[in-house]
Amino acid sequence: MCGVREVALAQVWGATTVGVEGQIVVVEVDVTAGLPGIGVVGLPDASVQEARWRTRSALTNSGFDWPGQRITVSLAPAETRKHGSGLDLPIATGILCASGQLSQESVVGLALCAELGLDGSLRPVRGVVPAAIAAARAGATAIAVAPENAREASLVPGLMVLAGSNLAAIIRQLRLPITERIHAQILGQTVLTLENPRDLADVHGHAMARQGLEVAAAGGHHILMIGPPGIGKSMLSERLVDLLPDLDSEEQLAVTAIASVAGALDAAAGVISRPPFQAPHHAASAASLLGRVSGQRVVPGSVTLAHLGVLFLDEAPEFSRPALEGLRQPLESGTVRLDRAQWAGRLPAQFQLVIAANPCPCGWLGTGRCTCNSLARRNYAAKLSGPVRDRMDVRIRLAPLLGNDAAGETTATVRERVEAARIRAGFRWRECSWKVNARIPSGTLRRDWPPDDDGLLLIHNLENRTGSMRGADRVIRMAWTLADLAGHARPNREDVAAALCFRDDAQDLAS
Ligand SMILES: [Zn+2]
Repeated sequence: MCGVREVALAQVWGATTVGVEGQIVVVEVDVTAGLPGIGVVGLPDASVQEARWRTRSALTNSGFDWPGQRITVSLAPAETRKHGSGLDLPIATGILCASGQLSQESVVGLALCAELGLDGSLRPVRGVVPAAIAAARAGATAIAVAPENAREASLVPGLMVLAGSNLAAIIRQLRLPITERIHAQILGQTVLTLENPRDLADVHGHAMARQGLEVAAAGGHHILMIGPPGIGKSMLSERLVDLLPDLDSEEQLAVTAIASVAGALDAAAGVISRPPFQAPHHAASAASLLGRVSGQRVVPGSVTLAHLGVLFLDEAPEFSRPALEGLRQPLESGTVRLDRAQWAGRLPAQFQLVIAANPCPCGWLGTGRCTCNSLARRNYAAKLSGPVRDRMDVRIRLAPLLGNDAAGETTATVRERVEAARIRAGFRWRECSWKVNARIPSGTLRRDWPPDDDGLLLIHNLENRTGSMRGADRVIRMAWTLADLAGHARPNREDVAAALCFRDDAQDLAS
């Protein structure tokens, strides 16, 4: 059609996803004399193998020539498995370059990501946001996608978006000088601010629980709330996420990328700027909580969708044991490992956990109305024992209201204090691997970050009484957060005493 037909080796960039992260795949195409045919090397999975047939039909049906020679497509890095149909467009473009139908210069700085229909149409794929992030990080200045993916791709700063409804339209654009190409509208970083329908001021009474939420938000602590049904545990828990500060620009992209892979991104609303909130039902399977692999596609679970935000488990002891036990790994490492034949790897899962539970199966333990026997109570409590429970710093027991409890402060007021405390903590931890008090490692906590002498005395008393170092560590971490909220340079006796309230109050589910 045009150009000189003797180039044999061409190179283009494909952008794809591995798990919930983007990856650049360098597509090399070599056209040589030999028996006509096409082979793909470099760990392609079945969907990428099928690209051979889709690209052949798409190219010929779009009016291009299919080289009557031997075509070899090599995908690099060779050691990672390539999956998904998003490599169709880069493979087809690579064949056009290698056969001299498109110049190699026209694809410099360009990444491509779209599936091809047999008629040459471009089809959207999932996970365009992480693919575009990877492209930008690798130095690409433009990305070609299907029109349905254009808004998503344009959420990533620094990339021009080239969107075409079919292969011929994209190639026409690529043949133009860069300055004459028509790029999709660049939305930049549209930051969405939602009118907030939930406010702490709607919750009456429960002063202790409100303070617990404030501490949890300021220090990144996991929180456990126990109380009879209908007392407001869910209403309080849902309000934690609104107390958290906005995501920074890197976090915004990470959260937006996960939503893109999950097919849950409203691209018209822009980059996600607020921490996500996930509240799976207690009937949710372990797979839907932790993530699964469907065919070749990774389907993030609630723990990943809640990354950098809040995971709320209401009626937590009703969740299945595999689901609860599966939380252990993300709580420890901030990631969840999926290990299936089709795909194995880690997904991000660093969330703040909020657990709400009744004190016993019937819910009325401690009120004189409980109808459960002691075995039922013990079994119920045991479901929340062990590693998950150990990590719950802030523990609150909610008591029925007396009826004359006043409304509290608004979310905006509390969030101001939370943000101020986070700034203090962030400055203190600026050279550490953790950003919030809840993540101060136990090893360094006593040695480098103890409370003052009076505060330490209270900690030693607690240890002598309970014999639990781990429980005492939780108190020190919370005391740091209370000190940050009060503007103290180091936790004092008052901060430690306040932290102790969030420990003893809800020590046991059923006792
Ligand atoms: Zn009961």
